[in-house]
Amino acid sequence: MTVQAIPETITAVLRPARYNYAQVCIACDTRWCTSAECLAWYEASVWQVCHRCDGFTFVGLNPCGCFHGLEEASPESAAEASRRVLPIRPSFYDEDAEPVRVLPRRWAN
Ligand SMILES: [Zn+2]
Ligand SMILES: [Zn+2]
Repeated sequence: MTVQAIPETITAVLRPARYNYAQVCIACDTRWCTSAECLAWYEASVWQVCHRCDGFTFVGLNPCGCFHGLEEASPESAAEASRRVLPIRPSFYDEDAEPVRVLPRRWAN
């Protein structure tokens, strides 16, 4: 498996969008939120690659629940996370692993 550490210069810019693709605020679940509190939280927030899914957004067959592969961090944990060695691709793509098809829940049966 190919692995690579992310330079700290890149972790400094890791940040999800404040609204999801449907324009819902990731802090308060309100569409088109204009809350000064949410904006202040967002601007002060620090992010790192999710420790559960390594940024691939799935843990096994289950959606991780992180923000598109990122999780909120403290400045200390983000510095620590920047030294993590991360896989380039999720382990379910490993050649010797059993093939796994990951389908959205509504299609799985
Ligand atoms: Zn909000
Ligand atoms: Zn995750």
